[in-house]
Amino acid sequence: MSESGWNSKVTRRGFLRSQAALAAAATPMSALAAHTTTPAAVDYYDKLGVQTFLNAAGTYTDLTSACMPAPVQAAVALAAKRWVHLKELQEKAGAYIANRLQCEGCCISAGAASAITLGAAACIQAANNCRPMDIPRLIGSPQYPKNEVIVQVPNGYDEGIFMCGAKTVVVNSLDEYKATFNANTVMTRVENAAERVIIGQEDWLAVAHDHGVPCFLDAAADMPPIENLWKYTQMGWDLVCFSGGKDIRGPQGAGLLLGKKKYTDLAQANNNPNEGVGRGMKVGKEQIVGMVAAVDWILSQTDEGMEKESRKRLALIADMVKDIPSVKTSVIVPATANHFPQLVIEFDPGVIGASPLELKARLATATPAVEINPHTGSTRASQGVPPEPNALVVVALLLFPGQDAIVGRQIRKVLKNPKSMGAYDPSAAPRRG
Ligand SMILES: *Cc1c(COP(=O)(O)O)cnc(C)c1O
Repeated sequence: MSESGWNSKVTRRGFLRSQAALAAAATPMSALAAHTTTPAAVDYYDKLGVQTFLNAAGTYTDLTSACMPAPVQAAVALAAKRWVHLKELQEKAGAYIANRLQCEGCCISAGAASAITLGAAACIQAANNCRPMDIPRLIGSPQYPKNEVIVQVPNGYDEGIFMCGAKTVVVNSLDEYKATFNANTVMTRVENAAERVIIGQEDWLAVAHDHGVPCFLDAAADMPPIENLWKYTQMGWDLVCFSGGKDIRGPQGAGLLLGKKKYTDLAQANNNPNEGVGRGMKVGKEQIVGMVAAVDWILSQTDEGMEKESRKRLALIADMVKDIPSVKTSVIVPATANHFPQLVIEFDPGVIGASPLELKARLATATPAVEINPHTGSTRASQGVPPEPNALVVVALLLFPGQDAIVGRQIRKVLKNPKSMGAYDPSAAPRRG
């Protein structure tokens, strides 16, 4: 039966024809296989006129983070060709990941930010003994008064907590932290890579657990090392989130909420397709399978192997620019988030004839376009990277084989003759990652 046949009127002749077609059709097994052939893909970036570039910046959401490795892409493409029961897939994929990452439970979310919402909903539900549909409507009411989340350093991802009807209370010392727990405390939240650490993780966990309050750790970008995927849950964090699309290299719209099964199960109860705060954060079968395949992929890698490959690529790029007047290169490795080698190409803007931000803008608008790290030309430290006011910062981890040489060639060209490539508008605000 042709696909358009579904919409056309069923005539007797058409019916007989389709019966004959069915009779002549292949066996059920090959009918399944028929859907696994892949036609040549239309390049929709090209068709839409969307600019593509080589990502020598890192896993920035705005730059669409990582590209999935080939085995992950293949698993996603195959998963897209069959139907499954969503809840069965969620349950089995979650159990599989929990087993591989050595924790009790896992809920696959629509990114780390969505894991914060689902984790908060789980803790609110546990504390108030309410239903998912009561979040956020009745949270903070006399019926369900428990609505306080203690945080160490507030950040924009706290929106995920506010969405659940809870509020945050910021603490600035261990004494203040201890004094803040009360009958309405439902959860605590720490950003693992926060610049400012006032209360250490062990103290933080011990105090909260003395009060029977679960602790959430946001470790979204904090892998490698690979062992972080189980280190924090094993330290006693009740819930830990990772972004799926960052260095785990899963789909950009996926994330992991790992931890105690009691809470990951409640998170799942608030997740799509259930009617809860996660209903609008749908994770499709393609993202779920992609996340599982990405976990398998990252566990097939080693930290040493990934670091060696990164350093090899960065050395190749450094070699291509080091003879340029005033250029000095070095490699840094941030301590927590984005813990992989980054190349710092320092230079004298007076000698080169352009600022780091101008070079960054020109690289991003050249052909082929290259996006380099947003710490380029930075005047402030961020995420463990010191200020780099006179340097380009380059990340090679995400590139596909052979792209390091292209990045090196473009950087050499822009350093040798800035005005020869791309465009630069000095009045435009520098682009953030
Ligand atoms: C990237 C990031 C997030 C959000 O992750 P998504 O997967 O994009 O939702 C949350 N917290 C921190 C600290 C991050 O770096």
